[in-house]
Amino acid sequence: MKTIKILDKEFCISITEAQINEAVQALANKINADHKGCDEPPLFLAVLNGAFMFAANLIKRIDFPCEISFVKLASYHGERSSGKVTELIGISDALVGRNIIVIEDIVDTGNTYESLMATLQRHHPKSVKIATLLLKPEVYKKQQHLNYVAMEIPNEFIVGYGLDYNGLGRNLPDIYTVMKN
Ligand code: 5GP
Ligand code: MG
Repeated sequence: MKTIKILDKEFCISITEAQINEAVQALANKINADHKGCDEPPLFLAVLNGAFMFAANLIKRIDFPCEISFVKLASYHGERSSGKVTELIGISDALVGRNIIVIEDIVDTGNTYESLMATLQRHHPKSVKIATLLLKPEVYKKQQHLNYVAMEIPNEFIVGYGLDYNGLGRNLPDIYTVMKN
């Protein structure tokens, strides 16, 4: 089992790049099927930093006309979600009347997505959907329906594939889970 050390923590590989690619393709297939023949190009809105790798992977598998833009919000420090959006940068595109598909790396408590949803609604889009690479179903207790989920994972801290531990590990092509000592 491949293990790595980042700062004070040891992680072991839990989802390989090949498994991620398979899940991303399956998700893209669903999104493509749902948007077949749609005549209003949706706007994908990727949430930085964590979703950058997933967004790049997903968008090249989308086969209908679409736009992509990026927003940044800070709601997470270290190992636990603080549960509130403290910063939201980059909503420069006009969102009025647009069909938006948010691209997220992971939904944990859902607090981040709930706040982002509230912020987006103030811009009067026509619709908002979400595509998330990962979901921790044991933690997520919100009513908000999650439209597209590539993979479900246990309630454990992970890094890699865009996700960080104190800024490190985003470059890892696979996903690693923290090891309990
Ligand atoms: P939520 O607000 O849904 O609790 O958390 C969402 C955000 O917390 C994600 O966008 C991500 O930045 C961060 N997050 C949640 N779980 C993990 C995790 O296991 N590892 C990392 N690196 N970040 C996580
Ligand atoms: Mg995120």
